[in-house]
Amino acid sequence: MSELQLDPWGTTDIKDYNRLYQEFGISPVTDELLASLKANRYATRKFIFGHRDLQQITDAVASGRPYAVMSGIKPTGPFHLGSKVTADEIIFFQSLSKKATAFYAIADVEAYCDNGVNMAESSRMAIINAADLLALGLDPERAVIYKQSDSLAVQDLAFIFSRDATFNTLKAIYGERPIGLYLSAFVQAGDILLPQTKIFGGPKPVLVPVGADQDPHIRLTRDIAQKHSADLGLIPPSAVYHKLVRSLKGDTKMSKRDPMSMITLSDPPKEAKKKVLAAFTGGRATVEEQRRLGANPNICPVYDLYLYHFVDDDGIVRTVHDECTSGARLCGECKLQAAGYVEAFLQRHQEKRKKMTPKAEELLERSRPLVGQKPI
Ligand code: SF4
Repeated sequence: MSELQLDPWGTTDIKDYNRLYQEFGISPVTDELLASLKANRYATRKFIFGHRDLQQITDAVASGRPYAVMSGIKPTGPFHLGSKVTADEIIFFQSLSKKATAFYAIADVEAYCDNGVNMAESSRMAIINAADLLALGLDPERAVIYKQSDSLAVQDLAFIFSRDATFNTLKAIYGERPIGLYLSAFVQAGDILLPQTKIFGGPKPVLVPVGADQDPHIRLTRDIAQKHSADLGLIPPSAVYHKLVRSLKGDTKMSKRDPMSMITLSDPPKEAKKKVLAAFTGGRATVEEQRRLGANPNICPVYDLYLYHFVDDDGIVRTVHDECTSGARLCGECKLQAAGYVEAFLQRHQEKRKKMTPKAEELLERSRPLVGQKPI
C-alpha cells in the first residue's frame, strides 16, 4: 500500500477515508457524537467523516462554557463549494451555544507566500469572503474576522512557536518546502491558538473545521499547544474533518485553475447552471443501458450537489439516489434539477451578500485593533 500524503498546499488524492483513521490517528464520528450533531447534514450524511477531540466542544456546549470555532481562507478567489462547507460548519458550531465565538482568518500572508497574491488584492477579496460568511448566516455579534497581516498577535505567536519545531520536524510533516511556507504554517498555528490568548479571555477549547488535506496544520498546532500547556495554558485544538469536494469533472478534488471544475459563490447563476449541465456523471453509455442497469451516484459529482451541498430534504436525496440506481432517472433531467437548486441558491446568496458588504467591511475594521495587540 502506497503512503498517503496530505498536502495542505498541493493536490491530495484520497480514495479511502478509512486510511486517515489508521495512518493519521483521526477518530471516526461515533453515533453518540453524531447524535449531538444531528441537525447538521454534513455530519448525518457522512461528509464530516472524522475528528480530533470533538468531545471538548460538545462538553463545552453541554456545560455552557465558552469555546471558539475557527477557520480561515487564503484570499486567492471567491468562495467555492469547499470554502462554503467550512463556512457552514463554522456557522453551525457557532450556533450551538451563545458562549461560542467564531474566528475567521483571511490568510493573506499565506496567499502571498504560496500564491504570490499581493496584499491589495487580498484586501479586496477579504471583503467579498467576509460578506459571503455573513450571507451564509454567521452571527456578526460573536465573530472575529481579521487579516493575518493586520494581526500583531498572530505574528508574535508565530515567532514564539517557531522555536518549537526543527527543520526536520517540518520536513517530516510537510515535505521539503520553501521557508515562506514553513513560516506560514507557524502563522496558521498562531491563528488557531489566537482565541486562547488573553485578548480573547484566555485558554478555552477551540474547534477547527477543515478539509482532510489540512490535517498537517492541525497536527503541528496540537503539538505546539501541548508544548505550551504549562507556560501559556494552551489547550490542543479540536478538529472536525470533511471530505474533499469532488470536481465537477469527476476528479477527487476541484482545481482553482480550471473554472469548469468547480462552482463558486460568485459565479453568475446562469454560468453555474452551464457548469452543472456539462458535469461528469455516473451515468451509463446509453439510455437503454441506464434504464436496464441503473447508474452510479457514488462516482457522480452531480449527486454530490444534492447529497452534500444544496438539498436539506432527506426525502429528495433518497429519491434521487433510488431513481438513479434503479434506472428510473436519466442524467440529463437529473442535471437540470440539480442546476435549478444551484441557480436558485446563487441568486439568493448573491443578493444577501451585496447587502452584507458594508457589515463585512465594518467587521474587518472592528477586529483590527483587537488582533493588533500583544498576545501574551
Ligand atoms: Fe448522477 Fe443523476 Fe446521472 Fe445518477 S442520474 S449518475 S445522480 S446525474
